[in-house]
Amino acid sequence: MYVSRFTLEGKTAIVTGAGTGLGQGMAVGLAEAGARIFGVDFIDMGETERAVSAVGSTFHGMTADLSTIKPVEQIIERAVAAYGTVDILVNNAGIIKRNDSIDFTEKEWDDVLNINLKTVFFLSQAVARQFLAQESPGKIINVASMLSFQGGIRVPSYTASKSGVMGLTRLLACEWAKHRINVNAIAPGYMATNNTEQLRADAARSAEILGRIPAGRWGLPEDLRGPVVFLASAASDYVNGYTIAVDGGWLAR
Ligand code: NAD
Repeated sequence: MYVSRFTLEGKTAIVTGAGTGLGQGMAVGLAEAGARIFGVDFIDMGETERAVSAVGSTFHGMTADLSTIKPVEQIIERAVAAYGTVDILVNNAGIIKRNDSIDFTEKEWDDVLNINLKTVFFLSQAVARQFLAQESPGKIINVASMLSFQGGIRVPSYTASKSGVMGLTRLLACEWAKHRINVNAIAPGYMATNNTEQLRADAARSAEILGRIPAGRWGLPEDLRGPVVFLASAASDYVNGYTIAVDGGWLAR
């Protein structure tokens, strides 16, 4: 059955920012497809652990602050200690700072670039070294954004970071495809999570955004389950360096 190419049975997935929002949704989706989850976050991941267990898989969590690359080596070591191998990395943890570009501070710039781009690169490097040591193929899935494709407003460090994520996804795919490592990204559209709380609280901006989404609704964490399972599975072995928009048609408009 071709559908067996989508199974993640026996695979281990590291998911950063797994405590809530899109990371939680993707962790549960990967678990539904059979993957064992190693969640990383600096908030409590109890809710995710329960949801992963409820779909019949296993969860290990590690508390780490990804605003620096200090925890990177330990993440790989602990995931390997828990499960023996690592097969999938979902670089999901990320933040956004909103301010007019004219007033934007160095801290607002560095805080966003550090977690959204620097940690994404060094964690990808560490997991790729692990794939090579295991002599096994691997899947890296980055989380990009509509602002990998568009400019946006009042989020200069976020747009720079997510545009960088799309470029880095292409570069790493070019370097590592020969090792049977796939590096792709998912660009979520406007999703109802903490990340967009401020936007959704602004009635005018919220109506403006909603009016432009062909699907007529904000996205939900579960909307990412199918795409992340596809990119984590053998079904996507010849898809490399690509960023898939999961946006209810936003970019098609
Ligand atoms: P969220 O704020 O609900 O979740 C982000 C997760 O990352 C949280 O679990 C948080 O605790 C974790 N995190 C943040 N800083 C951390 C740190 N220093 N160390 C460890 N963990 C940390 O937001 P979300 O919407 O679920 O965002 C997930 C990803 O999706 C982000 O990369 C975000 O930029 C991206 N994204 C979101 C949207 C959207 O509309 N919500 C759209 C496009 C892209």
